[in-house]
Amino acid sequence: MGSVAMELEVEGSGLDSDGRTFSSTQEMWEEETGGEDKKEEWYKKGVGYWENVEASVDGVLGGYGHVHQKDMQGSSAFLASLLPKMRGEGAHLVALDCGAGVGRVTEHLLLNHFHEVDLVEPVSHFLESAHEKLKGGKHSKSEAHRAVNFYCIPLQEFTPEAGRYDVIWIQWCIGHLTDADLVEFFNRAKAGLKPGGFFVLKENVARNGFVLDKEDHSVTRSDAYFRKLFSQAGLHLNQMKAQKGFPQELFPVKMYALTLEAPVIVQDVLQNKRPKRKINKPSIIR
Ligand code: SAH
Repeated sequence: MGSVAMELEVEGSGLDSDGRTFSSTQEMWEEETGGEDKKEEWYKKGVGYWENVEASVDGVLGGYGHVHQKDMQGSSAFLASLLPKMRGEGAHLVALDCGAGVGRVTEHLLLNHFHEVDLVEPVSHFLESAHEKLKGGKHSKSEAHRAVNFYCIPLQEFTPEAGRYDVIWIQWCIGHLTDADLVEFFNRAKAGLKPGGFFVLKENVARNGFVLDKEDHSVTRSDAYFRKLFSQAGLHLNQMKAQKGFPQELFPVKMYALTLEAPVIVQDVLQNKRPKRKINKPSIIR
């Protein structure tokens, strides 16, 4: 027992939903996705899982439909802290919703702030349901804020249109991508951001290493694991916040705002620092 606990504290080690332990991420990825055939199989099983799930908010939230409100509140507050950094007066704002499911995040969050939103989602009955709702359906928003493009494709095969997006929102889907595909996706998607744009990643976070889910074929990564991948993708962490108010039995959820440029130390921050006490010591007269 003690030795298992010790093992799990080792950086990079992990376990699966049946309780099996892996000594490294490499061991797990090799076993699950080593070789092209296995990798194809991994992605097929991931999408296959969602193909058998009802196209509803409760469905995409794995039966936790009741966390939807809290999730939206947390996301709204996080996005509100980013918008002033990107909003020029009268700017036409565009967002991309990745692994969009039934369009929950687009409908309840992104369309409140962005003039255009595109959705990318590999499961066709989810995307069709989003399309029904958001295009001309009874929930459709005003013309000033509309869902425009609906791409039915997995993220590992998708390349966003160059320079189109202020925000690329990625929520509860990146665990389906292998490390290499995650890094490559971010690298391709960088060109899809406008200057000063953000990636927002909202994800379950494992306390240590990773947890492989054998049912939906996804991996929950730790904060340290994510940060390593962000740096491999050449991204900078601009802001991070933990989601509050979710049921105890769920993984902690974190929101990461990532940028292409390193965050600038703003003057305000410097000014807010307590002034240094003047000390009597010799200094150079210029
Ligand atoms: N982001 C949505 C849906 C979350 S459910 C929301 O928060 O409401 C997880 C979603 O990830 C499902 O819609 C599933 O089809 C999608 N998904 C599974 N594999 C994916 C892949 N390889 N690329 C992109 N999305 C994927």
